[in-house]
Amino acid sequence: MEQQPELYGLNQAGDKLIYNFGVYGPNASHHACPSQKANQEYVSESLRWLFTTLPQLSGVQLETGDTGVCQCQLLP
Ligand SMILES: [Zn+2]
Repeated sequence: MEQQPELYGLNQAGDKLIYNFGVYGPNASHHACPSQKANQEYVSESLRWLFTTLPQLSGVQLETGDTGVCQCQLLP
């Protein structure tokens, strides 16, 4: 997202959704816009890679919390 900042989720003021929860050390959490097709494809490809690489997996928890809900004008 640093290379494609248009993929960030945005708050109501239009600022990028970047939070430092203090649980990852000095690393901040960067939230992507879920309505961007490129982000949807990234998640899909990531899951495809995961299950291809580790075929013994029987499931995965894909979390989407209510922290940093994108407020942009794109519709899913
Ligand atoms: Zn969005």
